[in-house]
Amino acid sequence: MAKYDYDLFVIGAGSGGVRAARIAATHGAKVAIAEEYRVGGTCVIRGCVPKKLFVYASHFSDEFEEAAGFGWTVEGARFDWKTLIANKDREIDRLNGIYIRNLEKAGVEIVNSRATVKDAHTVHLEAEKKDVTAERILIAVGATPFLPDIPGIEHAITSNEAFHLDELPKRIVVVGGGYIAVEFAGIFNGLGVETMQLYRGSLFMRGFDDDLRELLSEEMLKKGVDLRMNCDIVSIEKKDGELHLMLTDGDVICTDCIMYATGRAPNTKGLGLEEVGVKLGERGEVIVNEYSQTDAPSIYAVGDVTDRANLTPVAIREGHAFADTVYGGRDVKVDHSIIPTAIFSQPEMGTVGLTEAQAREKYKEVDIYKTAFRGLKNTLSGSQERTFMKLVVDAKTDKVLGVHLMGPASGEMIQAVGIAVTMGATKAQFDATIAVHPTAAEELVTLREKWQAPVVKAAD
Ligand code: NDP
Repeated sequence: MAKYDYDLFVIGAGSGGVRAARIAATHGAKVAIAEEYRVGGTCVIRGCVPKKLFVYASHFSDEFEEAAGFGWTVEGARFDWKTLIANKDREIDRLNGIYIRNLEKAGVEIVNSRATVKDAHTVHLEAEKKDVTAERILIAVGATPFLPDIPGIEHAITSNEAFHLDELPKRIVVVGGGYIAVEFAGIFNGLGVETMQLYRGSLFMRGFDDDLRELLSEEMLKKGVDLRMNCDIVSIEKKDGELHLMLTDGDVICTDCIMYATGRAPNTKGLGLEEVGVKLGERGEVIVNEYSQTDAPSIYAVGDVTDRANLTPVAIREGHAFADTVYGGRDVKVDHSIIPTAIFSQPEMGTVGLTEAQAREKYKEVDIYKTAFRGLKNTLSGSQERTFMKLVVDAKTDKVLGVHLMGPASGEMIQAVGIAVTMGATKAQFDATIAVHPTAAEELVTLREKWQAPVVKAAD
């Protein structure tokens, strides 16, 4: 008789957990996966996928306007929020079904219950009020929006609720300066909502290349987002059906809706991890080694709960690597050093590798190549939006250390450029690549002039 009920018990059926469960089962392991909400996790149910659908929806307002320059008259264009929500929900249901079927096809048992860890080999299923045992347990429970503790915070929504609002608000204030805040500020603004974004620091998108950060703020302002930096909320009050936001600078803002996008916290509360010897970090993240193994050798963790790089494709890669290593007889570690990523802000951004500031810290001499221009489409569309491209190069080896893009299809471009950067391509190899014309991307292989910092003359 087998010593345990399962070879592997996965807690959390999001991107990382589902991939790990499926691959482990394909390698012959007996696998179960527990999920307390819906199979698919943040990305599919209330993250990347519905967000991107909303981004598409919000682009049409600009596109209708720009169509005029190409001879089109678009009359009577109206937006219906309920139609978007219903169609988005239908697509999410479809994807949820596909995830469930793929798990079943691989032979993974799905348990609809919250699960907690009882000991190194035992999981407690709350809905079924029973314990099951497994040789190994994989924690893939993700993260949840973090909200600061200020008076009136109960009136705020997060991205979770933004996907299900009954009505599109007339005015919204988005708090935060990361991925989610800039993406949702762009969505609401594009859908015609009077949008303000508040960020506590001097310039949002901390950690991204400074040129991208500055240009994005300029472009968002041009599009009508009311960006307020160096500003935070002290308290929120509901009065006569409106929300009154008291700001740190003494100002009071009236709005209909306030959305916090102030980071996400690992979902480890009450999971029983520390009690069984799993080490957690300051933010509650599970500490793992390069094989995603915790301090309790039978317990592993992948995805946002480990707070390494909180991105779906990274969670998938970590889950796959775990399953291949433990059940597939391979030794696979995940390299987190170069991660291409897209920010579906408006304009969109794509980035891979080191920022200019990071490169200057790490390398003796760094060459910068950059360009900003109005794309061909905008010569007729009337849009003043600029496209920006920047290459960060190690002067000594000619290796391209980072690429930073802003403009249409930057997300698509950065995936392809990411291959070259991951392979360690040099600037000379970029230059040797024949351009594709007419595209914006051709600038990536035709940038010849090194950028020189403007000489600042001392005042007479
Ligand atoms: P981020 O960690 O990216 O940004 C959090 C923002 O909130 C920062 O600007 C931070 O400011 C601010 N903040 C944090 N705490 C407070 C506070 N107490 N009061 C006021 N402001 C605060 O988190 P997000 O929520 O935007 O996104 C979570 C994760 O989801 C991201 O790390 C990203 O990996 C992932 N994601 C990826 C997407 C993509 O790939 N396109 C899309 C959406 C999410 P400060 O800079 O000063 O710390």
